[in-house]
Amino acid sequence: KLFEDCGFAAPLMSAIAKQGYEKPTPIQCQALPIVLSGRDIIGIAKTGSGKTAAFVLPMIEHIMDQPELGKEEGPIGVICAPTRELAHQIYLEAKKFSKPYNIKVSAVYGGASKHEQFKELKAGCEIVVATPGRLIDLLKMKALKMLRATYLVLDEADRMFDLGFEPQVRSIVGQIRPDRQTLLFSATMPYKVERLAREILTDPIRVTV
Ligand code: AMP
Repeated sequence: KLFEDCGFAAPLMSAIAKQGYEKPTPIQCQALPIVLSGRDIIGIAKTGSGKTAAFVLPMIEHIMDQPELGKEEGPIGVICAPTRELAHQIYLEAKKFSKPYNIKVSAVYGGASKHEQFKELKAGCEIVVATPGRLIDLLKMKALKMLRATYLVLDEADRMFDLGFEPQVRSIVGQIRPDRQTLLFSATMPYKVERLAREILTDPIRVTV
């Protein structure tokens, strides 16, 4: 399987080549066609598998397919991750692949200035990468709207639950329109994560690596 088979636009193909990604990893081989077709997915995969690009690359294509709406309507892609370290890593990966496009990526997490993050979100972005608690705070402060959000990723869902973020995750999901595409990644599938997946995903396809 090759990245060429995914039908990515030329600028994205160049960005992939520039990263030195020669061929998709196993999780990317399985997940990319499903996600690009618009289906919901449960990806059972660990860090190091290349799962970030498996949700970031289709997210870029998804964003480029959307009608031009104002940044003031909020992000199109919303990614929740358990820790600031992971959120930052995802942010860096999303930045690499959004470079050829007019796509703004913002990262918001605890331990950094809420005021600065408020200002950044107010200025508008297409992608927000967030830890759940901080995103809830910023939603309460009306730093962003969720009117454009149609692509939701929950990364390391099991770890988010271990850290006690289930209520925040549920609140965030509840603020995003139900006709969104939803991607859930988790290293393990304990009962609580399985239950969430059943509640918030629409007819998902499950892939395991
Ligand atoms: P992740 O599991 O998403 O944290 O990715 C682990 C590492 O693999 C990161 O450093 C990525 O930049 C890298 N990576 C992701 N996809 C590929 C690929 N198709 N070829 C080579 N490296 C990759």
